[in-house]
Amino acid sequence: MRGGINLSYIDEKVAPKREDRLGTCIEFGGSVCEIKRKFGCGCLQNSNRTFGQGSICQLLPATAILNSLQDTVVIVHGAVGCGGVAHTQSASFRWGQIAAGKTNPKGLLWLSTNLGETDVISGGDAKLRSAIIAADKRYRPSAIVVLSSCIPGIIGDDIDSVATELQPQINAVILPIHCEGFKTKVMATAYDAIFHSIIRQLVEVEAEETTIIPDELAIAAEKIRRSKLVNLLNVSSMTGADQQELIRLINKLGLEVNVFPCDAHPEAFKYATQAAVSISICPTHDDYFLTHLQEKYGIPYINGQMPIGLNNTNIWLRKIANFFGLDDVAERIIASETAELNAALAPFRENLTGRKVMISAGEIRTLATAVWLQELGLEVVAVRPYHYDTFGEVEIEKLVVINPSIMLNVATAHPFEAVNIIERVKPDVYLGHVSDNVWAAKSGVSVLPIYGGQNVYNGYAGAYDIARRLNRILKNTAFVKNLRANVRQPYYQEWFDENPFKYIKQGAID
Ligand code: SF4
Repeated sequence: MRGGINLSYIDEKVAPKREDRLGTCIEFGGSVCEIKRKFGCGCLQNSNRTFGQGSICQLLPATAILNSLQDTVVIVHGAVGCGGVAHTQSASFRWGQIAAGKTNPKGLLWLSTNLGETDVISGGDAKLRSAIIAADKRYRPSAIVVLSSCIPGIIGDDIDSVATELQPQINAVILPIHCEGFKTKVMATAYDAIFHSIIRQLVEVEAEETTIIPDELAIAAEKIRRSKLVNLLNVSSMTGADQQELIRLINKLGLEVNVFPCDAHPEAFKYATQAAVSISICPTHDDYFLTHLQEKYGIPYINGQMPIGLNNTNIWLRKIANFFGLDDVAERIIASETAELNAALAPFRENLTGRKVMISAGEIRTLATAVWLQELGLEVVAVRPYHYDTFGEVEIEKLVVINPSIMLNVATAHPFEAVNIIERVKPDVYLGHVSDNVWAAKSGVSVLPIYGGQNVYNGYAGAYDIARRLNRILKNTAFVKNLRANVRQPYYQEWFDENPFKYIKQGAID
């Protein structure tokens, strides 16, 4: 079923992987025009790489979201190394709390069942039981997440049965989440796995309790409050500043916001069923949750755009306003924000115009950022989304109109393809994740992190800040030029002379 949701999914223990649910593609080399055509006709299914340089396990995005939940213990059920990525998430977890107004941010609270060779033979259920009981006793959390990794998936540990069996004696709500890395090559499958458990364990359980309201006055007041309450679904790659900017814009429309899943308390999911509408900033992230919330609880949703750049932020804001009949208010906000933004951008335009840029990140962030940089006057020469599916089509359409031959490489990591493309298209600047950017910098290209830190990327403030920081780094490129001159490249010239997509075998429907 391409691009859709089968509502019986939620009755199953495990959410389907994205390759099956959406026909998601993670191997492609060509142009924006080609991918639009080939994905549209199903010609990218069964594609493959005959050589690759790593990938990203779905545990990474899963832990990035789950470790940020307040008053929650995450138990990574598997080998101890599976949770190791959490060490890199500690700083952003603290920033999230500070952005939410906490003056004494806490560290991460995650445990591992530390499965070893004996457990592979005898099963890991006993260790998991002990870990859940210990976590509940020691930390008294609101929720305990059981995050299943490869070993339990392979040896057949039944984490759902363990959770069901222990729940009556545990204070916290137990959320079993199936996140075995070997099951999917599309790390975005993790979003569905998480929301699958949240809908089954948190939203369903709490929804009934919220309907108890004492008297008629209170009922009327509650109705008014709910009519102006929106769910804002954040993503782990959003910074606190991003969140504040989007809340600022929604508040300007006179609406109140319930933000989740990242940095939220498990209680926040209870209020998901009270909102008038759910607002996404990334369709790749949220479609599974939004569709189920609409079908099961009648909460409509607004989805499709990431509010990066002027026009995408305008579209996003107009859609929200239109839902509430606030079109005039939105137009006034847009007129004033646009005037202010254009005035602020004026000093940067000359330095940025015509600069070549290459971009790599998750699907929607990559493509939306590309559209904004093109609007800003830069020339997008190549884009590398981690995967591609139906949600990318809105931004791809725009890029095809701008220039149908923009190079497009669908790749989760695979730096050998990135460096080869860099040598061909010779960008002035590369926007990517830190792990990507190191290769661009060694190639002599200026780099800008595509998200993170304490910077702002979303909304009008983000549109300005991306331009401001690009202007600064493009004024002095001496560091990366010296890096290229003094660092030995790990690839021979023979590879740079090869087709960067030599190892991608494009498939077709069986
Ligand atoms: S691929 Fe499997 S073993 Fe490796 S980190 Fe992911 S879940 Fe753990």
